[in-house]
Amino acid sequence: MNIHEYQGKEILRSYGVSVPNGRVAFTVEEAVEAAKELGSQVCVVKAQIHAGGRGKAGGVKVAKSLDEVRTYASELLGKKLVTHQTGPEGKEVKRLLIEEGCNIQKEYYIGLVVDRATSRVVLMGSEEGGTEIEEVAAKTPEKIFKEYIDPAVGLQVFQARRLAFNINIPKELVNQAVKFMLGLYQVFVEKDCSIAEINPLVVTGDGKVMALDAKLNFDSNALYRHKELLEYRDLDEEDPKEIEASKYDLNYIALDGNIGCMVNGAGLAMATMDIIKYYGGEPANFLDVGGSATAEKVTEAFKIILSDAKVKGIFVNIFGGIMKCDVIANGIVEATKQVGLELPLVVRLEGTNVELGKKILEKSGLNITAAESMADGAQKIVELVR
Ligand code: GDP
Ligand code: MN
Repeated sequence: MNIHEYQGKEILRSYGVSVPNGRVAFTVEEAVEAAKELGSQVCVVKAQIHAGGRGKAGGVKVAKSLDEVRTYASELLGKKLVTHQTGPEGKEVKRLLIEEGCNIQKEYYIGLVVDRATSRVVLMGSEEGGTEIEEVAAKTPEKIFKEYIDPAVGLQVFQARRLAFNINIPKELVNQAVKFMLGLYQVFVEKDCSIAEINPLVVTGDGKVMALDAKLNFDSNALYRHKELLEYRDLDEEDPKEIEASKYDLNYIALDGNIGCMVNGAGLAMATMDIIKYYGGEPANFLDVGGSATAEKVTEAFKIILSDAKVKGIFVNIFGGIMKCDVIANGIVEATKQVGLELPLVVRLEGTNVELGKKILEKSGLNITAAESMADGAQKIVELVR
């Protein structure tokens, strides 16, 4: 789960990790009011959307008076901000962060992520802050430093100190930077983050180290033990199809292609997307209906796939183990009864109750293309949507 910058900063602040003072605003009036309360000479008006690259796209404005705050707030609110992370359709700005301006001396990068190769949390840092870290990694990888953290003992002071020196934090500020990193690590672990990225971390003219930006991502599998984080969820920022899917506990991710996929098992779902691409098609989604899905759940899943206007055909790929093929078949028939089906549908069924499942589909009168294997099914659906 993703949250807004101002929410991330709220969490950081509660852990004693240094961030500028700021307030969220939903209207122009609130923005001006927030700037008044902050009472600083310079305010920064920042668009709050779940995407980075706002700076370059004009989503971060420095205001030198309340009038300028008003101007920038009215420009930004309601605007579709297009950044390199939003896709061409952009994202509508509905919230602003009004923040105390600060005198930036230098921008750095600090991030915590889970490194799958070593199964450890890794602390990364660079003195090339403010720009995209992917670009730094591609062009000057020697400017990124890493510290692998032993989960048994957590981030050690000597590691944070070594990183601070490596990225050339001014000597007199190293202790502040170390405190910052230790606090950030505590947030990461206690809140079950999957990413905690501070870009930029800044050193200011008056000798402070703080986070000017904050991107926190949380592991959705751990949300059950963080009720407090659920309040940060912003449904406006999520794909409506994914919201619908989460209501039914379906593992669904919307993608850009035109072949809807209904599969059981995450591994098979990944393999199905791969084989569709192998035969020249593009999957419209990832969907794992799970092993214990009921006919109702399958019905909802099928309806979600059909609600995607990009979908030009559907590939059902089921290997029934715990999941029974007749349950899937009943779900498909029920969904098409409810919302109709004009698109080509290729079905590959295998496993428990396969004969029963096939019979249900035959009797339904639906126009279904049966597939003998996964490869056969993928080829057929790619052909049909062409
Ligand atoms: P992003 O582009 O979406 O990652 O948004 P950031 O929050 O990282 O802002 C982009 C850039 O705007 C930063 O690298 C800073 O140079 C600048 N910026 C952001 N906040 C402030 C601020 O409070 N004061 C000043 N002077 N510049 C800021
Ligand atoms: Mn940033």
